[in-house]
Amino acid sequence: MFSYRHAFHAGNHADVFKHVALLAILRHLTLKEAPLWVIDTHAGAGLYRLDGDYAGTSGEAIDGVFKLFEKVGANKTMDGQPLAPAVADYIELVQAFNRPGEVRVYPGSPFIAQHALRSGAGSRDKLKLFELHPSDSQALAGNVAQLKAGRQVTVDRQDGFEALKALLPPPSRRALVLIDPSYEIKSDYAKVTAALKDALPRFATGTYAVWYPVIPRAEAHDLPRKLKTLANQARKPWLHATFSVGAKEAEPGGPRKPTLNASGLFVLNPPHTLKPALQAALPQLLSVLGRGRGQGQQLEAGG
Ligand code: SAM
Repeated sequence: MFSYRHAFHAGNHADVFKHVALLAILRHLTLKEAPLWVIDTHAGAGLYRLDGDYAGTSGEAIDGVFKLFEKVGANKTMDGQPLAPAVADYIELVQAFNRPGEVRVYPGSPFIAQHALRSGAGSRDKLKLFELHPSDSQALAGNVAQLKAGRQVTVDRQDGFEALKALLPPPSRRALVLIDPSYEIKSDYAKVTAALKDALPRFATGTYAVWYPVIPRAEAHDLPRKLKTLANQARKPWLHATFSVGAKEAEPGGPRKPTLNASGLFVLNPPHTLKPALQAALPQLLSVLGRGRGQGQQLEAGG
């Protein structure tokens, strides 16, 4: 427990995929004036230095956000084609945390959400962040304090699965729940399903987004199947997206490090705009981030 630090992975292909989708969901949910809650059960540190020790050691952003920025460049096109709106929106958001032409700081899900929520007097949007790691929750609290967002954003060093139980339904009856565990311990898979089973009867109209790694592990393979069954039993619409960049070429002579090649996002009660947004965005992301054997993307909807 606690060996996972998201800083090693910040801005990798899975983050790019997850955060493009997260932003697209939020853009739709903030169109309506009614207040929105965002509950991020596994928030991480919120902001990451991509030129710092952690990210530098693993270099995962090289195969993610760096590659994307390099390809897109200043003219905001890809191979002469206009960017898919969700990709352009994501790039603009990441750029807002950086000086023009560089990506040194990467915003994690808390800062993407905070950026998308309505702020200022009159806004009743709320962001509830949970992070259990002692150092990361401290870093998150420090990063959030800089925002001077007052009571709009709260940070708790608490088990996000447990915390969720006390928060639903939110007073506004409108919320996005992001469940993005590290799956460091394999019980996380069962906890995700249990959390949704518990949450749905109490807040059936919420939007729930679950990220998971596509890895050769029975629990990881079973998770989307279980989530589909749950959504179908509750008669709720869902969207399941997978994004695989394929296997990384081994460095000549270097040791073969196990790397994550693919991940998935299961969204229950997705905004109706999410599917077309990802239909346009994912092929474009893949054309830049794809690494070879096994690359692909898939969208499946139901309910
Ligand atoms: N959502 C973040 C983002 O997209 O920027 C990344 C989160 S990272 C994949 C998962 C985080 O969950 C880690 O920072 C880990 O310390 C934290 N964590 C692990 N178990 C937890 C739990 N039960 N409750 C809250 N946080 C937990």
